[in-house]
Amino acid sequence: MEILFLGTAASEGYPNPFCSCENCQKAREEGKKSIRLRSSLLIDEEILIDFGPDIVASANRFAKDLSKVKHILITHGHSDHLFFKNFEYRNPIFSGSFNELFHVDLIVPDKLGSVLKENVDLPKISLMSVEPFRTLHLNGYIIYTLKAKHTSSYNETPLNYVIEKNGIKVLYAVDSGKLLPESLEFIKNNIHHLDIVILDATMGFNKKYEFHMGYDEILETKEVLLNQGIINETSKIIVTHFSHLHNPVHSVLEGIYLKENIITAYDGLIINK
Ligand SMILES: [Zn+2]
Ligand SMILES: [Zn+2]
Ligand SMILES: [Zn+2]
Repeated sequence: MEILFLGTAASEGYPNPFCSCENCQKAREEGKKSIRLRSSLLIDEEILIDFGPDIVASANRFAKDLSKVKHILITHGHSDHLFFKNFEYRNPIFSGSFNELFHVDLIVPDKLGSVLKENVDLPKISLMSVEPFRTLHLNGYIIYTLKAKHTSSYNETPLNYVIEKNGIKVLYAVDSGKLLPESLEFIKNNIHHLDIVILDATMGFNKKYEFHMGYDEILETKEVLLNQGIINETSKIIVTHFSHLHNPVHSVLEGIYLKENIITAYDGLIINK
C-alpha cells in the first residue's frame, strides 16, 4: 500500500496567508515541509480521502493524475475537507478525458448524501451515504466507517475511516477528538489490529478542544491503542492536520514527536507498507 499525504494543514492552511504570527513567519522562511495545504490523503492513487479546496494545488504539486481515482471518501462537510466545485472539474466541460474517467464510488457520511445530490452534478459517480460502523467491500479494499468525535456542517455524522488491503489496515482519524468508546469497541471487535494510525493533531501544545486532538491526546491515544492490543511496536503512528496557532514549524514539531516514536506528516510524505 502506498499512502501519500497531499495536504497536512488545518482549515486555514499553514501558514495562513492572512497571519503573521511567529509560526507563520517561520514557516515562510523555512519553506518546504513547513508549507502545508489543506488535509487530504491518496492511497495507491486509487482512494482519495477528502476533497477540499486545495486538491488541484496539491495534486499538481506532486504530479498526481486524479483521473485514476476510483473511490473518494469524505470524512465530513467542513469546507477544508469538501469543496463542491471540485466535482465540476471532472465533467466534460473541463476534462478532456471524461470518457476514460473511472466511475467513482463517492462515500459520504449519512446526511451529506442528499446535500450533494441537490447541489452538485455527479456524472460517472455512484454516491453512497453511509452510517458509522459499516464495512464496505470495494475493488479489493475493505473500508470500515467509524464515528468521529467532531462537529459537522450539514448535520451529518462525521466519519473516520479504516482502509484495509491485503491484510494491511490504516486508520485515518481526521478530523476527530479522542477516539470515541464505540469506535474503539468496533476496532477491537471487527478490525482487531492497525498497522498505520493517522491522527488529528490540530491543537498541538497550547490549547484544548474536544473535537480535535493535540500532543497530550495523541500520546494518550497511542497508550490506549497499545494497551488494548490494537497496535504494537511495529505499528506506525502519524500525526497531521496542523494549526499554525498551536504547532511550531515542521523542523521543530518533527523532533518533538520523534521522541515518542511518532511520525510528523508533511505534504508529500509517502508511507509504503
Ligand atoms: Zn479539518
Ligand atoms: Zn499564524
Ligand atoms: Zn472539521
